[in-house]
Amino acid sequence: MFLTFDVEPDAPPYQSDSYRGVKEGIPWILDFLDSVGVKATFFITGVIAKRYPELVKEIVGRGHEVGSHGLDHSRLDKLPREEAVRNIRESLKILWRFCNVRSFRAPNLQLPSYLIPSLRGLGIIVDSSVAVYKKGHMKAPGWVEGILRIPATVTSSTIRLPGVLARRLTLPHSRQFHVLFYHPWEFVRVRRKPLYRPDIWMRTGDYARRMLEAIIQEALERGFKFEKLGDAPSLCG
Ligand SMILES: [Zn+2]
Repeated sequence: MFLTFDVEPDAPPYQSDSYRGVKEGIPWILDFLDSVGVKATFFITGVIAKRYPELVKEIVGRGHEVGSHGLDHSRLDKLPREEAVRNIRESLKILWRFCNVRSFRAPNLQLPSYLIPSLRGLGIIVDSSVAVYKKGHMKAPGWVEGILRIPATVTSSTIRLPGVLARRLTLPHSRQFHVLFYHPWEFVRVRRKPLYRPDIWMRTGDYARRMLEAIIQEALERGFKFEKLGDAPSLCG
């Protein structure tokens, strides 16, 4: 089982000038994960890593994995191909100052397949830019041109549903390649205005924190083991 966080401005593109998730959400997440002994994968944009280098050092220092979430959260499918490759490469150049990078997740889970060989050429071995709940995406992990693609299994806002439902939808069964997917900004109270989708602001902050605690606790009690996504290829045997 894998716990992943996409580290980006708050609720992009709605609050792209706000970084409360990074400044307040991540310290809480790191302390919580330490308290339960769980390691996670943090997909960080290059811009955030450049802006908050101490936080990236903290994430690495506490034993978590750092993956790339692109340079500036631009949608890679909207950029010309060469521009998209440059965007990924620039994000990696920044992250390589802190650690080796093996895993990638594209902003908005949009990774055109023609970018996969470029990712491989840059040392990426795991991609999680796919989701089982997205139309046309792969439903199970699989190797594509030297990269293990592992779909997210639970969409992030699930954690903010009413308790019983959140737990049931988040931990439905015991398969190994179960990828939980959240954003640090979900663990701070996101502003409701300017008006945008309730699935973004609803029950952010304390509610999401209590629910993450409950879900991870239950997962551990049920015997799930948490791994870092970059280690997934060795788990495949
Ligand atoms: Zn994102």
